[in-house]
Amino acid sequence: MNRVLCRSLLNIRIRVPMARNASYLIEDPKYSFLKDLGLEKTNVGVFNGKWQANGQIIQSFSPANGKVIAEVQAGSSSDYEGCAKAAEDAWHAWAELPAPARGEVVRQIGDALREKLQPLGQLVSLEMGKILPEAIGEVVEYIHVCDLALGLSRTLPGTIFPSERPGHVLIEKWNPLGAIGIITAFNFPVAVFGWNSAIAMVCGDVSVWKPSETTPLISVAVTKIVESVLVKNNIPAAVASLCVGGKDVGEQLVKDPRMKLVSFTGSTAVGQQVGVEVQKRFGRHLLELGGNNAIIVNSDANLDLLLNAALFACAGTAGQRCTTTRRLLIHKKVYGEVVSKLKKAFAGVVSRIGDPLLNETLIGPLHTPAAVEAYKKTVEEAKKQGGTVEFGGKVMEREGYFVEPTIITGLPHDSPLVKTECFAPIVYCLEIPDLDTGIKYNNEVEQGLSSSLFTENLADIFKWIGPHGSDCGIVNVNIPTNGAEVGGAFGGEKATGGGRECGSDSWKNYMRRSTVTINYSGTIKLAQNIKFGDE
Ligand code: NAD
Repeated sequence: MNRVLCRSLLNIRIRVPMARNASYLIEDPKYSFLKDLGLEKTNVGVFNGKWQANGQIIQSFSPANGKVIAEVQAGSSSDYEGCAKAAEDAWHAWAELPAPARGEVVRQIGDALREKLQPLGQLVSLEMGKILPEAIGEVVEYIHVCDLALGLSRTLPGTIFPSERPGHVLIEKWNPLGAIGIITAFNFPVAVFGWNSAIAMVCGDVSVWKPSETTPLISVAVTKIVESVLVKNNIPAAVASLCVGGKDVGEQLVKDPRMKLVSFTGSTAVGQQVGVEVQKRFGRHLLELGGNNAIIVNSDANLDLLLNAALFACAGTAGQRCTTTRRLLIHKKVYGEVVSKLKKAFAGVVSRIGDPLLNETLIGPLHTPAAVEAYKKTVEEAKKQGGTVEFGGKVMEREGYFVEPTIITGLPHDSPLVKTECFAPIVYCLEIPDLDTGIKYNNEVEQGLSSSLFTENLADIFKWIGPHGSDCGIVNVNIPTNGAEVGGAFGGEKATGGGRECGSDSWKNYMRRSTVTINYSGTIKLAQNIKFGDE
């Protein structure tokens, strides 16, 4: 039996649920931060103003060692129903609060998150697997969105247009949608909820959150923080309801006409089903789906800058960002140099793959044994198709779900493998003769999330950001494809779903627009000066 297969069987064994009386990491003093977040050995995963659940018990594993951290009781179908009803009931009071008052509540949520920054970051690291600085950064992202939402609460616009009719006023008025559903992926278990929740709250919406079933503890901890602020302000806490569960709860939420908007973050395959289901009932959807992001390396690129960025973009977060660089499109003049320097850079971080909670670690584990299997399958398939593994390609011999960051060359730019998102640290290096070909390759995949060009040439920058440039939602220059700020709108085109979250005018997703015409002239006048009858 080969080493890789042997390791996979070990991983599968680790996933077999432990006896419920076995010791959990939460009991180990090393993880005392879990108790600081109000977590226990068994937690309730449903919140509708009260904590109560009747669904399955889910064990939450640490990807760094395959051990159970603690368990969460998920929601049943009737628990979801209770959440939707409680959220809808809570909406009336919440929508009546002036937007600046809602902003003040969101400001306090930001402060409550600041107080729990360290333990919440540690929990993200432990349960999701990203390194602590990135995990803390993820909580900071939620805090930043609270700041953004606070400002928005005092600046939410409405417009008055000039009416063509005397004695009339033409107004554009924005109102809350009501209840919205938020379905999140495992890889940003705090920030994605925060992006949606903070903006939706100031817009006057309430939410039911269905988090990833593999990060249930994070969702319970975050909801407890939000609950504490709502309760302190005498606001019905079902404004931010939670229903932990799997596909079943997700499907129920997606079909529920009470959820005026379904904001879904996850894979393209599931997001497509979600989009169709929501459309069937004429609901609104916001889809944040998979990416297949490229960096183009121009012949004049600053290679030090590029290598620095590419290391984080390709190998950071163990390749588990939607914006991870999966393709490096390298000009032929610098191709050899870039591949050889990137191999050296990857070699330099292998000794720093490990426990994501430790200071010295730069790359943590993959999230699940299934992700390890997908990584192995992709590497094997790449080799079968004639690709060369320039670096990495192996599952690591240690407890937990660790793999080597991997560089593959020699595959055609349009091979199905290169055009597919494998959620692991695998980057394909492809040679390009010129920038136009690079842009063509960048745009030829189905996904359209993030992209970056490394160049010093001004004309090339403007080509890249113009109509014949990148077709992605995120178009960078001389920075990695990953690591967005909250001020801009975040999201992508094509099979990435077209949704936009966070800054800019993304708030419009969470509100409905009324075009209002008020006549104070005392007579009826038709637009376009139409005369009807004998007036
Ligand atoms: P996933 O699609 O497997 O799951 C996402 C969520 O959908 C989970 O909460 C899951 O329980 C739920 N779900 C599963 N089936 C469902 C159904 N039929 N109806 C409703 N809900 C259902 O994704 P994942 O593995 O958790 O996350 C990784 C994927 O997410 C990657 O493709 C990544 O690129 C993408 N992602 C995109 C963004 C973005 O902003 N574009 C951000 C983060 C992650």
